[in-house]
Amino acid sequence: MQILHTLDEMHKLVSAARRGGKSIGLVPTMGFFHAGHLSLMQQARKDNDLVVVSVFVNPTQFGPSEDFKTYPRDMDHDARLAESVGVDVIFNPSPEEMYPEGYSTYVEVERFSKGLCGASRPGHFRGVATVCLKLMNITGPDRAYFGMKDYQQLRVVQRMAADLNLCVQIVPMPIFREPDGLAMSSRNTYLNPAERRAALILKKALEYAQRLIDEGVTSADELRIRVVEFISTEPLAQIDYVEAVDPDTLDCIKTLDHNAVLALAVKIGNTRLIDNTILKV
Ligand code: AMP
Repeated sequence: MQILHTLDEMHKLVSAARRGGKSIGLVPTMGFFHAGHLSLMQQARKDNDLVVVSVFVNPTQFGPSEDFKTYPRDMDHDARLAESVGVDVIFNPSPEEMYPEGYSTYVEVERFSKGLCGASRPGHFRGVATVCLKLMNITGPDRAYFGMKDYQQLRVVQRMAADLNLCVQIVPMPIFREPDGLAMSSRNTYLNPAERRAALILKKALEYAQRLIDEGVTSADELRIRVVEFISTEPLAQIDYVEAVDPDTLDCIKTLDHNAVLALAVKIGNTRLIDNTILKV
């Protein structure tokens, strides 16, 4: 497995692969791998001749008071894990390589970026869309893999790919969870033991919501209020949002008469966690 840091090196490698008629799979990440990341790489390995994983903590998607500086990083550990699942190349550029002096171009996926995490993290999805487009332009993938854990991000990238006529198939991948149900995330390492236990409230709240639907709740407002009450029983939890949205448009819904995505963002101590499920109506 190679680890490349520059655009030049990537261009050479990708051009050679293209000339050889190889298909390319891209898995964009911020590193500090867990089994969720590896599941995306394994799928990419099955589907493509060349698997490229980008490891880039993207400064443009962090707000000024967010954890860009402290975001966990461990390239040696990441390289070992990526190699163990058959990744061919890690692309690990510096911020200067991606955003040289004078950099001025950003992608705004309107509407899809406004609600949910977009409301509490202004500019976040502008940074996400921009870096994903850049990474896809650099690596020229046939397929790019995104986890449904970051459901809004998946929709933003799919919308961008459709709107800008990108020749790439966006492949959604299911949420990978710890045995007790906590969605895997690099940020879970911030949790102390008490917070780690408290974090289970997210998954439990999603299950509770499905039970409410099964019992006949059809008002999205009622569902939201009862899920908020449920999460509030956990003293370490502070809710950012609980929303039931249309799975395709991400618009808030009023009546649960078709499948919906229930999306949560909850702070456990100082750590903001997100999770979601597709509610079966
Ligand atoms: P990140 O490094 O957190 O930016 O994530 C890189 C990719 O892995 C994104 O497409 C995420 O949605 C995906 N991902 C992160 N956590 C999980 C998980 N628990 N299950 C599935 N995919 C995930």
